[in-house]
Amino acid sequence: MDSPSTPLTLAPPPQERTTIRCTDPATGELLGEVPVMDGAEVQARLERARAAQLAWRETSFAQRRRVVRRILDHVLEHSDELCRMIARDAGKTLENAAVELWPVCEAMRWNLAHAEKALRPQKVSSGLLVHKSARVEYHPLGVIGVICPWNFPLQNVLAPAIPAIMAGNAALVKVSEWTSWSAARIQQIFDEALRAEGHSVDLVQLITGYGPTGAALVTSGVDKIVFTGSIGNGKRVLQASVDNLTPVILELGGKDPMIVCDDADLEQAVHNALVGTLTSAGQLCMAAERIYVFAAVHDEFVAMAARIVGQLRQGAPLGDQRVDVGAMTMPGQVDIVERLVDDAVARGARAIVGGKRSPTGQFFQPTILVDVDHSMAIMREETFGPVMAIMRVRDEHEAIALANDCAYGLSSSVFTRDHARGERIARQIVAGSTVINDFAMHYMAQDLPFGGVRGSGFGRLNGPEGLRGMCNVKAVVSDRLPFHNALKMYPVQPAAYDTARGVFKLLYSGSLVGRARGLVDIGRALLRRRR
Ligand code: NAD
Repeated sequence: MDSPSTPLTLAPPPQERTTIRCTDPATGELLGEVPVMDGAEVQARLERARAAQLAWRETSFAQRRRVVRRILDHVLEHSDELCRMIARDAGKTLENAAVELWPVCEAMRWNLAHAEKALRPQKVSSGLLVHKSARVEYHPLGVIGVICPWNFPLQNVLAPAIPAIMAGNAALVKVSEWTSWSAARIQQIFDEALRAEGHSVDLVQLITGYGPTGAALVTSGVDKIVFTGSIGNGKRVLQASVDNLTPVILELGGKDPMIVCDDADLEQAVHNALVGTLTSAGQLCMAAERIYVFAAVHDEFVAMAARIVGQLRQGAPLGDQRVDVGAMTMPGQVDIVERLVDDAVARGARAIVGGKRSPTGQFFQPTILVDVDHSMAIMREETFGPVMAIMRVRDEHEAIALANDCAYGLSSSVFTRDHARGERIARQIVAGSTVINDFAMHYMAQDLPFGGVRGSGFGRLNGPEGLRGMCNVKAVVSDRLPFHNALKMYPVQPAAYDTARGVFKLLYSGSLVGRARGLVDIGRALLRRRR
């Protein structure tokens, strides 16, 4: 297994810039400029967020729900405008922008319905302490610092910010320098909802800037960092978090496998592979970047996929023509995809559809690559582009071995008509999630945690685990009965040590004889004390 050390980013831009020029990746049109916030600005915002959180942490779940309900209503009422905003900021099609909106809405619905239940104090066993009761409580941490990538401008902000505030925290959200134009509009959504319910708008603040602004947020003294982005910057964040011992969730890249068995419904598998490679032009952390197809159905699978991909239209999403696949959001991403495809072709792979960057604009053609293997960088490094890399495999055994021969472990999928086989393969894939006979649907089941293993990071968002990850998970023990018998250890009694060893045997020995010995030891110790 090689080390996932290749960051996806370009060199950081000059520090002296005071604004970010935001352009539409599909047209090059200048959208506007946003400020580059420095460390002092981040610090000032943190102080305001702290003040807002002190009041917010005292709110009831009903009050928090009213704010989230307003945010959800706002998203629904302005869905067309917001999809157009996403399309312009990230260069994706309106349909792909809608794909972004749906999980955002589902996450809010889930939080409205389930957050209170998930964060209610939970009674647990007090074990041997029969006179005590024990419970787990979920207290807000304070201010959550969120650092976002560019591939989902709205979802990357809302997916962590909503559970953060539902759990009683404030959130400072650093958006990507490549999709900063949306920030002001997204800020407005939070501001309107908070103001309408009588809360401080300082509770959720969006921050704009380059890497150093994100770095300033990490060391600012926030109570937790949720970083979503490349593995290289994830490592930097982890290193920087050490001084303040700031806890970190890392949602990093992926190189997700999709296994298509010989008994799969091929139409279903092909269409899921298309969604898994072409949604947001492949700029999806859980994109199906490695497709392993059993030899018996490989050619049919490839032919079906090629028929569809060959017909797809690519271009500016908001132009006169309807397009299927949009632009690459970050300019340098086209170079990365080109390098990986060229390397694969030089080593014997065949691009049977596409395979080239477009002569104009920030586009890479929807591509099908066959005859790939694990000696090629395209099967090891994150592509983050509209490339379906298909590898022929002999059987289940080889498919699983190849799926696990990877430095990442975010998500995965398997296609088969045999239920037991699907479950068996899923169990053996090392990843944060596996979906059987579908692509990425775990993200729509918001009760499920989302996150990765290996180079894909650690910690979880979504579901009860995600919500509780925004909390101080506090253990509380209290009296069950109204009497209180003080534990008197001092001054140390002569028989205390021997009695304790007898008690251990009595309680924990695996045999009756052992327990009886414990009783005898206790008796002897007590007798010795009397003498
Ligand atoms: P990136 O690491 O370049 O940037 C992410 C964010 O980190 C940006 O806001 C950037 O300004 C900031 N940043 C840069 N240097 C920093 C530093 N030293 N300290 C703190 N912040 C810093 O990633 P990207 O290119 O924007 O996003 C693409 C990556 O994100 C891909 O690897 C993709 O797989 C991953 N991703 C993962 C998930 C997930 O949930 N696992 C979701 C979406 C994207």
